[in-house]
Amino acid sequence: MQAGLEARKILDSLDLSLEERKGLASPIDGSAMPGLADSDAKAVDAAIAASARAFPAWRDTPAPVRGELVRRLGEVLRANKDALGKLVTLESGKPLSEGLGEVQEMIDICDFAVGLSRQLYGLTIASERPGHHMRELWHPLGPVGIISAFNFPVAVWAWNAALALVCGDPVLWKPSEKTPLSAFAAESLLQKAVTDFGRAPVGLSALLIGGASVGEALTRDARVPLVSATGSTRMGRAVGTAVAARFGRSLLELGGNAATIVAPSADLDLAVRAIAFGAAGTSGQRCTTLRRLIVHESVYEPLVKRLKAAFSSITIGDPREPGNLIGPLIDGHALDGMKHALQAAGAQGGTVWGGEVQQGLYVRPAIVEMPGQSEIVREETFAPILYVLRYSGFDDAIALLRNVPQGLSSSALTTDLREAELFLSARGSDCGIANINMGPSGAEIGGAFGGEKETGGGRESGSDAWKAYMRRQTQSINYGRELPLAQGVKFDL
Ligand code: NAD
Repeated sequence: MQAGLEARKILDSLDLSLEERKGLASPIDGSAMPGLADSDAKAVDAAIAASARAFPAWRDTPAPVRGELVRRLGEVLRANKDALGKLVTLESGKPLSEGLGEVQEMIDICDFAVGLSRQLYGLTIASERPGHHMRELWHPLGPVGIISAFNFPVAVWAWNAALALVCGDPVLWKPSEKTPLSAFAAESLLQKAVTDFGRAPVGLSALLIGGASVGEALTRDARVPLVSATGSTRMGRAVGTAVAARFGRSLLELGGNAATIVAPSADLDLAVRAIAFGAAGTSGQRCTTLRRLIVHESVYEPLVKRLKAAFSSITIGDPREPGNLIGPLIDGHALDGMKHALQAAGAQGGTVWGGEVQQGLYVRPAIVEMPGQSEIVREETFAPILYVLRYSGFDDAIALLRNVPQGLSSSALTTDLREAELFLSARGSDCGIANINMGPSGAEIGGAFGGEKETGGGRESGSDAWKAYMRRQTQSINYGRELPLAQGVKFDL
């Protein structure tokens, strides 16, 4: 069935009938997806105003009760996992197992957030003053603007929304203009949970459809104290600057350029599998996609040979078919970007293998052997291109890994304990994510997710990432009858 028709059927099954409006072409077969109207400036302003009005009531709702709404969201997602997962596949072109995996990630973060709703712990701190104690308390922050990218069209929203909601913050979501339908469906599922819950203020959550200008409205508006933005470094530079100009807070999850070091002691069977999924999975359209392979000279030739054989056997085609491991690129712009990068790599001394267009937006992943870490290797091209570099000393491999502007994800394949520990030490990987004996992509929600340098420095999802969605207050309480001053200062009247 045409992807556009299938999408409409799924929306109908979710009771979300849309007006007849032609939307974007599905990357799967070019058929027109159902279209959604953009939110105009008035609608964006009204949504922000409603969000600001909803804040006091939500702030005053006890956190475990807020968790009950997120628990219900998790239940609605469980009940509609198939429909939403398929819609993600139809719109983004990722294989169905990954579309479903994305919804599973949403369910997982809801479970995490429900537990968190009873664990928004502060500290008690010893006071230097007699008859005093100090503590830190975390308070809700206010409306959170969420700007998301096309490649995880719903999971990234859930990472932000589940935490923001238990932290007491309303949410305003500006999804990618390339994947509005998955966002529309996910937001409607949240609205179902809100209706069942029955105690949420009007305006607690809103969806704002449109392009960069809608995102810009969120970044400029002082009623939105936190903007959490996922996407390219170019976008993050604009968002970070605009939010900082009004002293707002931004949480930036930007481009990556992940690398894996393959040491002489690496298990090569495991390496081939880890590298193939890391570099070619999701058609190279993950922020954690493996883009740079740094291989010890002693295993370089056999590994590259095995990788070419593995890449040749990757099944490419309609992502709805279970046998296909990778689907299409998102659009013609992405395809042009891949062609341009392969040309530039050739001009910079690289030897290109693969990368041919099969048909439409379907491409064979490319392996490019490079004489050094040239300009194009240091850029993020959002497509399945694996640059391979050679090293002789482990310190040189780490230096190559670090010598790029981005700092999201990394891994080392080694069974040498000293190399593994060095890689994980302060002298090793400079990324937010560092793995041993696995690829750099495919994170779990339990850990904090994000990266350094031009990746933006933000952390979301697990661990203590929730703190970004709250404001910290240091409180001092005097339970005595004296008024001693800190540092022994005297001010006796
Ligand atoms: P993109 O930067 O083109 O768009 C991302 C979002 O930002 C979209 O919703 C877009 O409308 C919005 N936007 C663009 N310019 C804006 C502006 N000036 N102000 C406000 N909003 C603006 O990215 P994309 O092509 O959708 O996604 C791919 C990129 O996202 C890659 O660079 C990838 O590495 C990155 N990414 C990062 C992470 C992470 O967690 N670090 C996760 C997923 C994707």
